[in-house]
Amino acid sequence: MPATPLHDPTAPPLPGAGTEIRNTTCYMCACRCGIRVHLRQGESGPEVRYIEGNPEHPLNQGVICAKGSSGIMKQYSPARLTQPLKRKPGSERGANEFVPIDWDEAFQLLEERLRHLRATDPKKFALFTGRDQMQALTGLFARQFGTPNYAAHGGFCSVNMAAGMIYTIGGSFWEFGGPDLDRAKLFVMIGTAEDHHSNPMKIALAKFKRQGGRFIAINPVRTGYSAIADEWVPIKPGTDGALLLALVHEIMALGLYDRDFLARYTNAGQLVNQDAASDDFGLMLRNAEGDIVNPLRPHNFYWWDRLSQQPVADHAEGADPALLGRFKMPDGTPAVPAFQLLEERVRPYTAEWASGITGVPAATIRRLAHEMGITARDQKIELPIAWTDSWGKKHDSVTGNPVAFHAMRGLAAHSNGFHTIRTLAILMSLLGTIDRPGGFRHKAPYPRAVPPNARPPKGPEAVQPDTPLNGAPLGWPESPDDLFVDAQGEPVRIDKGFSWEHPLSAHGLMHNVITNAWRGDPYPIDTLLIFMANMAWNSTMNTSEVRKMLNDKREDGEYKIPFLVVCDAFQSEMTAFADLILPDTTYLERHDCMSMLDRPISEFDGPVDSVRIPVLPPTGQCKPFQEVLVELAGRLKFPAFTHADGSRKFRDYPDFIVNYETAPGSGIGFLAGWRGKGGEKSMRGEPNPRQWEMYEKNNCVFQHHMPAQLQYMRNWNDDYMRWAQGAGLRRDRDPIVIHLYSEFLQRFRLAAQGKHKGKQPPDRLRQRVMTYFDPLPFYYAPLEEQATDLSKYPLNAVTQRPMAMYHSWDSQNAWLRQIHTENYLFVNPKTAGAEGIVDGGWMWVESPWGKVRCMCRYSEAVEPGTVWTWNAIGKAAGAWNLAPDANESQRGFLLNHLIREELPVAGGGTVSNSDPITGQAAWYDVRVRIYAAGADEPQQTWPQVGAVKAVPGMVTAPKRRSWMAGLGLGRKAAP
Ligand code: SF4
Repeated sequence: MPATPLHDPTAPPLPGAGTEIRNTTCYMCACRCGIRVHLRQGESGPEVRYIEGNPEHPLNQGVICAKGSSGIMKQYSPARLTQPLKRKPGSERGANEFVPIDWDEAFQLLEERLRHLRATDPKKFALFTGRDQMQALTGLFARQFGTPNYAAHGGFCSVNMAAGMIYTIGGSFWEFGGPDLDRAKLFVMIGTAEDHHSNPMKIALAKFKRQGGRFIAINPVRTGYSAIADEWVPIKPGTDGALLLALVHEIMALGLYDRDFLARYTNAGQLVNQDAASDDFGLMLRNAEGDIVNPLRPHNFYWWDRLSQQPVADHAEGADPALLGRFKMPDGTPAVPAFQLLEERVRPYTAEWASGITGVPAATIRRLAHEMGITARDQKIELPIAWTDSWGKKHDSVTGNPVAFHAMRGLAAHSNGFHTIRTLAILMSLLGTIDRPGGFRHKAPYPRAVPPNARPPKGPEAVQPDTPLNGAPLGWPESPDDLFVDAQGEPVRIDKGFSWEHPLSAHGLMHNVITNAWRGDPYPIDTLLIFMANMAWNSTMNTSEVRKMLNDKREDGEYKIPFLVVCDAFQSEMTAFADLILPDTTYLERHDCMSMLDRPISEFDGPVDSVRIPVLPPTGQCKPFQEVLVELAGRLKFPAFTHADGSRKFRDYPDFIVNYETAPGSGIGFLAGWRGKGGEKSMRGEPNPRQWEMYEKNNCVFQHHMPAQLQYMRNWNDDYMRWAQGAGLRRDRDPIVIHLYSEFLQRFRLAAQGKHKGKQPPDRLRQRVMTYFDPLPFYYAPLEEQATDLSKYPLNAVTQRPMAMYHSWDSQNAWLRQIHTENYLFVNPKTAGAEGIVDGGWMWVESPWGKVRCMCRYSEAVEPGTVWTWNAIGKAAGAWNLAPDANESQRGFLLNHLIREELPVAGGGTVSNSDPITGQAAWYDVRVRIYAAGADEPQQTWPQVGAVKAVPGMVTAPKRRSWMAGLGLGRKAAP
C-alpha cells in the first residue's frame, strides 16, 4: 500500500477549515512584487499557508520566484528576535549575554540618550541602515534630529550606478529607469547576473527572446540571466570602462552615432572654453545674450553654427551646431564643441588597446560596436505620437533606436566605476537611445535635473543643538561650494561623505562608519543605530578587524563606540555586538510604503507606488522599525512630528503616512494614490483618512498611466515637464540636457588647481581631485589593483547574489537553504589545475589582507583570470540560530575577510577603498592567489569565529518537520 501522503493538495478542505487571502507586497528581495498570502487559522491565530504572485499587480503580473514563495519560512524562522533586549549588566559586548526588557524601558533608554545628544552635539548620533525601503522616513528622522551622520546602504551597493548615470543623463537603471525590451532588437547586459528587478526582468527577457531579440551578456561569469544570452562575452572584472571606451571609439570612428539626437538633446554642440590661462578653462562658454531659462541653472550656452560659421545661442532657430572642429570666439577665446573633446579623448582607446586590458578580442569589440551602431541606425522605430520639445519644436512622431542596455553592480562596485558608468551613459547617448522606444526609458520620479536639486549641508554650522538640519543629510553637489567640509576642507560627516576624499558621495559611505568611529576620525561618536545591516559579518569589508573594532575600548574602559543599537528581525553576528536590540517585524507583519518620495515601483508609462499591509499580527513583542522612529520622533519633539503646543502630530506610522505633507498644504505626501479628502485625487491632494483602505482594496498599488505624448523624450518633453512640475516630481521644467561633457566635474578640477574662488581641497588631496574629476571619462586601473603586486596576486575575486537568495537574507530560510547551504569558490579548470587544486577539493584563497579556506568547484563559465563565489552563504557558527555544525559555518565561507575597507596612502595614513569620486565601496577590486589546502588540514572553512548564541525570546531546537499551517512548529522559547 502506498504511504498516506502528509498532505493531499487535491483533497477537499477539512470541515470548518477556511482560508483567507490577503494582498500585500513581497520583501524577500528588493524587487517588491505583489503577493497574495493565504492564511489559515492555527492554534494561536492566523498562520501563513501559501504565498503566490498577485496576477493583478503591474510589476510581477502574478509571477513569483523561489524567494517570494519561501516567505513562509522567513516568517517562521527560528532566527526571529521577539523581544527587546539589553546587554546583560557586567557582561562584555560580543559575549551575547542579554536580558529581556519591555518597550517602555527600551524607549526610555533611547529617549534619554538621544535627547542628551541632540541637545549637546547631534552628530554624535549616527543612523545607518541596510537594504531597507524606507529612506524617506529614516532620512527625515536624521534631518529632524539634526545629525548629518545618516545614510543607507547605497554607498556600499551601487552609488556609482546612480551617480554615473544621473550626473550624465538625469536617470539611472532599475527603479528609476531600464531597458525597453518590448521594442528593443538588441539587448546588452553588462555587469549584471541576478538583479534587483528580478521578476520583471525575467518576464521581459522571456518576451524579448520569443520576439527574436538578440541578447548579449558581458560578464566575467556566465550565470543568472547570462545563461540564456545568445552570446557571452567574458571580461576581466574592473575593466568594463576600457571596453566601453573602445566601443565609443569605434562607433565614433564608424560615424554610427545619432547626430541629430546628439545635436539637439545633449551638450555635444555646446562650446567649451579652451583658454588655458582662464579660470573658466574647461567650462561651457556662457552667452550673455542667451536665454537663461532657469536662473538656478542657466542655459545660456553657445553653439557654433555650421551654416553661418559663427557662434550662436544654443538651440537658436535654424542653427545647426558643429559637433567637430576648433573655433575662435569673437573675443579670441578658443572654443571647442564638447563632442570634439570627446572624440579626442577616445581616439587612443582602440579595440586593440582595450583588448589588452579586458581580455576581450579586438575583433569582438569591433563587431559589437558595429552591431550596436547598425541596429540603432537601420532598425529605427517610429511611433505616431506627436509631442513638443522644451525649445518649442513640434514633432509628429516619437522615434527610437532599438538598442537597450542594462547594468548594475558589476560595473559599479569598483574604484573606477563612476567613469565606467559615465562611459556607458555616453555610449547609450551616442546611439540615441535615451528615453526613446527600444532603448533606455525613465521611470517616475525620474528624469531629474543633472544633478538633482537636493544638496548636502555645507559646513559644520549646519549642525546645531536641538535643531533640525535645514536640508536633507544627503544630496547631489554641483560645485565645490556644495561640499560638507570645515574651514580647513576636512570632513564633517563621520563617513567623510561629501568631503574632498569623495565629493559626490550621494549615498554616503556606510562601509567606513565603524572604522572611522573606532579611530575617532574625524571625531568619536556616542551612539550608532544600525538597522537591517549585518556590519559584523557580510555587510562589512574587513570582517575580522571590524568585529574587533566593535569591541575595542578606550583607555578609560569605555567602548570606542560607546552605545550600539541594532534593530533587526533576526538574530545575527551583528546582534551579538549590540548594547540594545530592537526586534523588528517581518514584512508580513507591518505597514510600509514604496513611496514616490523614495524608491517607488514606477513603470515606463507612469508613476506607480505601493504599500505593505500587515497580514499577520506582530510576533511576540516585535515592533516595526517605522513605529520606533515615529514614537521616538514624538518623544524627542521633532518639529515635523509635533504640534506647536508640543503634542504629537501622529498617532503611529499609518497615521504619519496618511497625514504627513512635504510642506504645509503641499498636497504631496508619501503616497500618491487616493489623495484628497475622499480619495478623488492622485499625485497631489489633501490627506485622505481612508488612504490605506483604498490601497488595500486595489492590490496595495497605485498606478498612473500618463498620456502617450508624455511617455517619451521626457528630458526635453515640454508637456511632460509641465505635468511633472504640477505633480511635484520636478521643481523646474527646464530641459535636462545630457552631459557628455561634465562641466560639474571640471569645476572640482578647477578648485583643485586653485582656480576656484570658493572651497578648495587640502593640499594632500589636490592631485587626487585633479586626476579623477575629469570632465570626460577615462580609464584607470582600480586603485587596489594599482597598489597590489599582481605577480603575487594574479586573480580577480568577485561575489554574486544567487537567484534563490537575496544576499544574506535567506541563509536562515529552511526551504532556500536546501538550494544553497554551502558555497564553493568557482575556478576555471585551467586555473585550478595549474595550482593542483582538484574539483571539490579544499583550497586557500589569499589576498594582501587575509586568507580564507574553502572548497573549490571547477567551472568553465568563468574567465580564467577570475574566481568567484556566492555572496553571504557562509555564516558564523550559531548565527541565524543554525546548528553550530550547520554547513553554512563549516563549509560555507565569506569572501569579505579578504577585502579591505581602506587602502594605505603613500606617505602614511589610509583612505577609503572606494571610488574617489562617489565613495562607492570597491568590493570587486580585490586581487588574490589560490593554492591547495594541505591533506592534513581540517576540511572546514577558515577563519572560524566564536559561536553566536541564541538570545532570550528565540525558539530553541526547532523540530525537523514539514510546515503546515495549523499544525504549529512545536517550538519552545529560549528562557
Ligand atoms: S523577485 Fe523579489 S519581490 Fe519578487 S517575488 Fe521574488 S523575492 Fe519577492
